[in-house]
Amino acid sequence: MANNMKYFIGNWKMFGVPKSITILNKINKFVKNDRKFNKKYKIIITPPDTLIESYSKYFSNQAISIGAQNCYYKNNFGPNTGSISSLMIKSVGAQYIIVGHSDNRLEGDTDIMLKSKVENSLHNKLKIIFCIGENKEDKKKNKTFKVLKKQIENVLEKKFNYKDIIIAYEPIWSIGTGKIPEAEDLLKTTIFIKKILKNIFKKSNSPPVLYGGSVDGDNVSQFKSLNEIDGFLVGGASKSEKKFIDIIKNYYR
Ligand code: PEP
Repeated sequence: MANNMKYFIGNWKMFGVPKSITILNKINKFVKNDRKFNKKYKIIITPPDTLIESYSKYFSNQAISIGAQNCYYKNNFGPNTGSISSLMIKSVGAQYIIVGHSDNRLEGDTDIMLKSKVENSLHNKLKIIFCIGENKEDKKKNKTFKVLKKQIENVLEKKFNYKDIIIAYEPIWSIGTGKIPEAEDLLKTTIFIKKILKNIFKKSNSPPVLYGGSVDGDNVSQFKSLNEIDGFLVGGASKSEKKFIDIIKNYYR
């Protein structure tokens, strides 16, 4: 079953300085003035940690919510040079956190570390955007479902509040490449992911499952008929107000 809310999440990665707030201002202005935008749509932006505090203050009570892209895997404070904990992120106003992005998995995040990040972040009252996705090799060998199942089951547990979790299905071969999955494959995969989640949480409804990977204003309309997809995680196109607004409006218009 599809969720009522459709999410548009923009992951800025290593991009942005204080004045980049003009990008978000334009997106915020657009959604405030667009009659088709309503409470069924949710916009979350994950800027770098350096901008979380100022952006969170600026956009409190606005259509845009702010999240973080990652955190250290354990403890609130510690002797970990250059690291930031989920408590520190929450303390400056973030409401969401991405956990398990393939960029971080490729840099060494293990399932054990990801579970610890989820636990700590939930404890510190952040909502989780948990990323999963197969690589090109897995896809070629028809191992997609096996890989996704393992990524989910190794990290998520029934004890976590399923209402605080969003899943982003991001095939690694699709991120930043301009390639997107066939609609039929994406639908099957999304339904498969929801089945696993319902089983873990013992609920009749699943947490939202979003799609991420090369989404832009042109291809987003191909996902319109796939109601099971509860929104999008957007990388590259989220750094331009025009491209991000195009995704939103071409999806619901
Ligand atoms: C991402 O990095 O999570 C992502 C989806 O990037 P892009 O939209 O650029 O493929």
